[in-house]
Amino acid sequence: KMNTDIGQHVLKNPGIAEQIVNKADLKQSDIVLEIGPGTGNLTAKILDQAKKVIAVELDPRMAAEVTKRFQGTPAQKRLEVILGDVMKTELPYFDVCISNTPYQISSPLTFKLLATLPAPRVCILMFQREFALRLFAKPGDKLYSRLSVNAQMWAKIDHIMKVGKNNFKPPPLVESSVIRMVPKVPRPQINYEEWDGLLRIAFVRKNKTLRASFLGTTSIMTMLEANYRTWCAQNDIPVEDGPVEEAGGDGMDIEQEQDTEEVDEEVMDMDDDDVPDFFKEETNARLEQALKNKTPRKKRGKVGELVREKVRQVLEDETGLADKRARMCDENEFLKMLWAFNQKGIHFN
Ligand code: SAM
Repeated sequence: KMNTDIGQHVLKNPGIAEQIVNKADLKQSDIVLEIGPGTGNLTAKILDQAKKVIAVELDPRMAAEVTKRFQGTPAQKRLEVILGDVMKTELPYFDVCISNTPYQISSPLTFKLLATLPAPRVCILMFQREFALRLFAKPGDKLYSRLSVNAQMWAKIDHIMKVGKNNFKPPPLVESSVIRMVPKVPRPQINYEEWDGLLRIAFVRKNKTLRASFLGTTSIMTMLEANYRTWCAQNDIPVEDGPVEEAGGDGMDIEQEQDTEEVDEEVMDMDDDDVPDFFKEETNARLEQALKNKTPRKKRGKVGELVREKVRQVLEDETGLADKRARMCDENEFLKMLWAFNQKGIHFN
């Protein structure tokens, strides 16, 4: 009896199991991590091609079943079953990951795999179609989102094949897709909290220009000013406080077209709850709080003006991205922006 609450949908089509495993291009020397072996349909194919399988399974009945399946066969010694929640398990070394993933943990598992060092050579993962589409969506695609940029920052992701729900027992409610994820080596040396903090701001309104998302959103500017003050304090940089003598400096006030817009649902596409501790941070809560604070518009002080000018310079002069919309920017453009912001002491965590 399957427990669909924990994503137990067993792949019953052996042809598909075979194709999935073949896509990993396994070597005889490979150690393969399998998440959620279930009854072992994929496990059997992997054992045919690799040196060793480490299978992490949450359900004790399934762990027992997959163990039993290979008992007394030559493969027995090459299979190690770890009973437990993969999200709470410290993973041993592996070369390749193959998984018909329990959909409940799609996002955290993806980021756990991307955080694994040394990086696996390749991950072949079956996901719910919608999630898979988001993972490999490109700038301009309808499903391009913070999840897409984030994942593509650390890996090259391709779609391999669609798998209809009738290939599973019991059939899930949704269609599935298999993707290939190849982590970038070396791993980009960026601070995840800074990076994700920037993306969160940009994707709150992914259809607006970056100028509007940053300069046109008082709450964001207030948050960046607070971050700037903290950064200055930490680095012993004096800030010149006080009101700006002459009001109305930057005239055209973009602020008028702002603050009334609804927040795209995209902000929800990767909840903090979905992210493993390694990647977790408080930016989200703070950003959401900042967006809720409908701070009454008051005259900016000198520091506020300074921060605003820095942000303007980054968006307009240094990156030229002010008129671009987040939904059209790729990970390199976000990276360029982050670098330019950080150079000016503008931080996102
Ligand atoms: N690999 C099998 C197949 O393809 O037929 C079963 C795949 S089924 C979609 C997902 C499996 O993951 C189930 O056996 C389930 O018990 C297990 N599972 C669910 N949550 C898990 C978790 N957090 N850690 C490890 N395994 C989990």
